[in-house]
Amino acid sequence: MINLQNELAGANSVAIAGHVRPDGDCVGSCMGLALYLRKYFPELQRTEVYLESIPESFHFLKDSDTIRDSSEASGAYDVVFVLDCGDRERLGDSAVLLDNAKKVVCIDHHISNKGFGEVQYIEPQASSTSELIYLILDEEKIDTPIAEALYMGIAHDTGVFQYSNCTRRTMEIAGLLMEKGIDFSGIVDRTFFQKTYIQNQILGRALLESMMLLDGKCIISAIRKKDMEFYGAGPKDLEGIVSQMRYTTGVEVAMFLYETSIQEYKVSLRSNNIVDVSKIASYFGGGGHVRAAGCTMQGNIHDVINNLTRHIEKQLEEAEEKQTLKG
Ligand code: AMP
Ligand code: MN
Ligand code: MN
Repeated sequence: MINLQNELAGANSVAIAGHVRPDGDCVGSCMGLALYLRKYFPELQRTEVYLESIPESFHFLKDSDTIRDSSEASGAYDVVFVLDCGDRERLGDSAVLLDNAKKVVCIDHHISNKGFGEVQYIEPQASSTSELIYLILDEEKIDTPIAEALYMGIAHDTGVFQYSNCTRRTMEIAGLLMEKGIDFSGIVDRTFFQKTYIQNQILGRALLESMMLLDGKCIISAIRKKDMEFYGAGPKDLEGIVSQMRYTTGVEVAMFLYETSIQEYKVSLRSNNIVDVSKIASYFGGGGHVRAAGCTMQGNIHDVINNLTRHIEKQLEEAEEKQTLKG
């Protein structure tokens, strides 16, 4: 646990940054903290948030229009908060902020986070970074806009309170946030479930073209760059596809890839009960959580899929062996 008062003693300027392709938890935690600091730490002359562009549906968050694009990140800040980001590389263009920072405070819940910065508050058991931000704030000082940001973050990273990372503490925090006058069902509806027509079309396409591997224990699908161009879809439009694939009966691991450039793929992995996908993603230079992880891989698509499948198969075999020994 960290004490904000102590960490900010004597500071005049703060920057807050999160990972590339910011998701609900990343934006929610960054904005929740920014709104709180701007309101309750008037001695701070500047509190800037640096992120890559955020989905339209997050624009309802108070002051989301003050978010600066990470490509503009520069300058020497007294304190730089790095939120929901497992390593320096995942900061993208915002990583330059670390070079001139007097102090870096890292708050995160990725199991793959090895720790960086002078101050670290890393709890892999936490549902989300937004949950951790809640814990460092004064409950009575959390107003409606701050609650909206944190609730959105927690709801997104738990798949709306469904994944195994969702604990009693998570629900209790969400319950307290619900009492702050937020439109909790609207937030979930508009930012999590609602999809644009294009997003639904491309989801359908990915499901239609999916394949089952490893005796139906693994489902995979890939989208090529030219297909994304055809639909006018960007990476943000592909969120949620891998989660939908995971809901296939009998499947342990879902794997979704999209082409980022020639012979380069962004890989998303999800598992149900057995496979530690964070281990696999970390092996290939990425990271994440036990049940949700990602990485970027080079090579032709068949090799990429084969490499990933081999690791999944190995873990499944090991799990089976353990089971046999037990039985
Ligand atoms: P995604 O599949 O992109 O939704 O990511 C699932 C989880 O893995 C998220 O918690 C991400 O923060 C993490 N993750 C995804 N890609 C990477 C990567 N290249 N490096 C580290 N962590 C990642
Ligand atoms: Mn995230
Ligand atoms: Mn997160």
